[in-house]
Amino acid sequence: MTTPAHTEKPLFKKILIANRGEIALRILRACREMGIKTVAVHSTADSDSMHVRLADESVCIGSAPSKNSYLNMAALISAAEVTGAEAIHPGVGFLSENEKFAAMVEEHKMTFIGPTPHHIAIMGDKISAKNTMIALGVPVVPGSAGSVSTDEEALSAAKAIGYPILIKATSGGGGKGMKVAHNDDELLANVRLAKIEAKANFGNDEVYMERYLGAPRHIEVQIICDTHGNVVHLGERDCSIQRRHQKVWEEAPSPGLTQKDRERLGDIVTQAMQKMGYRGVGTLEFLFEKGEFFFMEMNTRIQVEHPITEMVTGVDLVREQIRVAAGHKLSFTQEDINIKGHAIECRINAEDAVTFIPSPGKVTGYHAPGGIGIRVDSHLYHGYTVPPHYDSLVSKLIVFGDTREECLTRVERALFEYAIDGISTTIPLHQRLAKEKDIQSGDYTIHWLEKKLKENEA
Ligand code: ADP
Repeated sequence: MTTPAHTEKPLFKKILIANRGEIALRILRACREMGIKTVAVHSTADSDSMHVRLADESVCIGSAPSKNSYLNMAALISAAEVTGAEAIHPGVGFLSENEKFAAMVEEHKMTFIGPTPHHIAIMGDKISAKNTMIALGVPVVPGSAGSVSTDEEALSAAKAIGYPILIKATSGGGGKGMKVAHNDDELLANVRLAKIEAKANFGNDEVYMERYLGAPRHIEVQIICDTHGNVVHLGERDCSIQRRHQKVWEEAPSPGLTQKDRERLGDIVTQAMQKMGYRGVGTLEFLFEKGEFFFMEMNTRIQVEHPITEMVTGVDLVREQIRVAAGHKLSFTQEDINIKGHAIECRINAEDAVTFIPSPGKVTGYHAPGGIGIRVDSHLYHGYTVPPHYDSLVSKLIVFGDTREECLTRVERALFEYAIDGISTTIPLHQRLAKEKDIQSGDYTIHWLEKKLKENEA
């Protein structure tokens, strides 16, 4: 369905990958198959990284702390200029949703592989994102009309929304800084606290309020748009298995949706993106409760969990993302997309599987699982040292099966084979999850894992 590798002219001759770890490798792999040269950038802590080893060229852009390297816009732009890269792929995290960086790349006559700075800015602010979606006819989680600053504003919004209420940072991300309130006193105390935390974490103290849903699933839709007006959605992912609002285990398709729900959601999303004139890949995140979808936020980049969508659609999302960034038409239409089989991703972090304390250090032994239906996206290798400075995600185990049952059997089998020695990882947590009755039956909500972990502590 996608254009076979090497059958079309290289779109860009050279791309700089402004990221690290498994996602840098993922992008590098797509580039190599497309005949595009790659420039890896790295901090001094990442000189021995696999993405540096496999790239055609590499540039050290600063010291270990992200702000000196992977977030250093000037260093990234000069690395691209010096190496003659025509485009920059931002990956996930770091500068991938930074409209200033996207604009800077374009000012320097290079292509930013992502949406316009304008769309990044609209979606980067959660209030403007929600208001935009309301205007586009997308249902959103009921909440305050804008940010709340005074006690009076908070109390009057609470009356309209009803308890329990979730307080969120306008510029928030990564599940950080959210607080639940069950009554007026808690609300006022938590709004104050949330503002202080938001200022410290995101440099902006704006917060807003939403109805806190008691038993929803997290359902997100993958979309891709070219610059010729074509919008295609690639079905949903269920990311309800979360700890501290961070995704742990993802599935496509969701065991909790009917075909009718799926089609309804696909239509809502495609129409909204068409009206918006969006370009590139994106994900619209929803909560789904009692048959209703509520928009939460949109991520204007490729997502960590994109491979499960690739497994069930057969589309190489990163390749398509690069093609549309170069101005090519999408190589498929909505009619070409058939969801087939089932895929699950286990996010494997360098953390203790019980305490979740980070566990950086040297990998003294490494054996990745293989066999039918198994894909491992990881930058780990025997002898590699996981640095303490970055996100603890070290591997994504992605498993495909013709049915959900077959997929789950393979997840267990692959986890049994996976050996990572020298550091602690969350593999034992996934081994436990795969055996859980509720996971096997697909009967879970966004609160399931936290509840389970508490029960196990008790
Ligand atoms: P972030 O950008 O920090 O990841 P999101 O808005 O995407 O924040 O929310 C992250 C997670 O928090 C969601 O996947 C969901 O589990 C939970 N969450 C967000 N909004 C609500 C809500 N209104 N009610 C209940 N849970 C919510």
